[in-house]
Amino acid sequence: MRVGLGLDLHPRDPSRPLHLGGLRFEGEAGLAGHSDGDAVCHALADALLGAAGLGDLGQHFPDTDPAIAGIPGPMLLERVVAMLAERGLRPERCDLTVLAERPRIAGRRDEMRAVLARTLGVPPEDVSVKATRPEGLGLTGDGVGCLAVATVVPTPKAPPTAAGAADPPGAPPPPPPAAG
Ligand SMILES: [Zn+2]
Repeated sequence: MRVGLGLDLHPRDPSRPLHLGGLRFEGEAGLAGHSDGDAVCHALADALLGAAGLGDLGQHFPDTDPAIAGIPGPMLLERVVAMLAERGLRPERCDLTVLAERPRIAGRRDEMRAVLARTLGVPPEDVSVKATRPEGLGLTGDGVGCLAVATVVPTPKAPPTAAGAADPPGAPPPPPPAAG
């Protein structure tokens, strides 16, 4: 089984809107960064890359690349999912924790799960979103940190064919070898 661990941290930038987990939080200070600063999507993408042995997010999406300036978190996550698909891998289940004083995640947890599930191509019940507050301590007391853990399993068969037709999920296993 493959397991990936991703962690992302951005400083606050009150002049920007806050994007987290593919959601926009009105009235909250945003996060600085070359992208939209969506630490949740970045941590998840980093975990997926790790699970696939593909390095880290910064290698594939350097903050010097003008083509990804301001890129929305879900779009970046989608690209990483596509990179995994090329290698016959797909996300199966993920668990993530947001470590931040603000915003309060609880009220929008299900919304965030839905957005992330859609982006990852998994059912919402396979996306766990948790949050904890640092109560003023350290980096995340006035900034934001995000830790995500994702597990990824290989697809049952070969990667999608050139025609783009993937094997249907739940395809029967190959017959056992003949006895004798
Ligand atoms: Zn980031």
